[in-house]
Amino acid sequence: MAKAVLVDLTRCIGCRGCQVSCKQWNERKGLKTSFHGDFTSPVKLNADTYTRIRFVEAESKSKPVWSFVKEQCFHCQNPACVSACPVGALQKSAEGAVCYDFDKCVGCRYCMLACPFGIPKYEWDKAQNPWVQKCGFCAERIAEGSLPACVKTCPTSTMLFDERDKVLAEAERRMKASPGKYVNHIYGKEEAGGTSWMYISAVPFEQLGFRMNVPCEELPKYTWDVLQHVPLKAAGIAAVLGGIAYLRNRGANEEKRS
Ligand code: SF4
Ligand code: SF4
Ligand code: SF4
Repeated sequence: MAKAVLVDLTRCIGCRGCQVSCKQWNERKGLKTSFHGDFTSPVKLNADTYTRIRFVEAESKSKPVWSFVKEQCFHCQNPACVSACPVGALQKSAEGAVCYDFDKCVGCRYCMLACPFGIPKYEWDKAQNPWVQKCGFCAERIAEGSLPACVKTCPTSTMLFDERDKVLAEAERRMKASPGKYVNHIYGKEEAGGTSWMYISAVPFEQLGFRMNVPCEELPKYTWDVLQHVPLKAAGIAAVLGGIAYLRNRGANEEKRS
């Protein structure tokens, strides 16, 4: 059964433990950063930072409040990035993770254009064999029955990991149990056709910088509306790109083996 995460933003204290544990588990390098008007660091997600906490000063019931927003891939139910990839380098697993296979990637970056949330990042600073990078939902941990590293680390249980229908039911239960505490919106329940990471919040999502113009339809439909008019061309392009991936990634694999 596909897994999902409920992020209850009312519980987050902005400690950034999730950010650190994600870096450790995924062996991503630490980067020197600086603040730009608030305490968010780094300024954007990047190829070495799969998740970060965005610090937002917003207003709730006419009072200023700090909000801390965890960002990572939403692991869409029907991901636009997967449908846009011409060589199948991104795949949605049965457990819910949208995973990346660098052996297949040709570096076309269509996934970056297709993602409605601007999640996949490219290793622009690498001269040789740059890859696309993003959160992989700690798929290897989930497969072993463990929690994703960020979920496991969180000291305030901001994130609840479970099957998607149970996560949704818990979101609805919390909203019903505390009338007036949360805004009446589960972000990710319908956005992009539904996502595996969903949020509840005391502050309206538009004030927290969430993208409010993401359609509720499954986005791959749009990709295929275009591709169905050029099926032979698309198949030919995919075959050529597959060859490029083999050549490009053979060098990287040899580097890793030596
Ligand atoms: S958020 Fe973007 S990168 Fe993540 S699964 Fe959805 S479309 Fe793909
Ligand atoms: S699920 Fe894993 S890869 Fe994704 S943000 Fe959490 S720790 Fe990072
Ligand atoms: S570890 Fe939990 S409380 Fe700390 S910043 Fe991450 S989500 Fe928030």
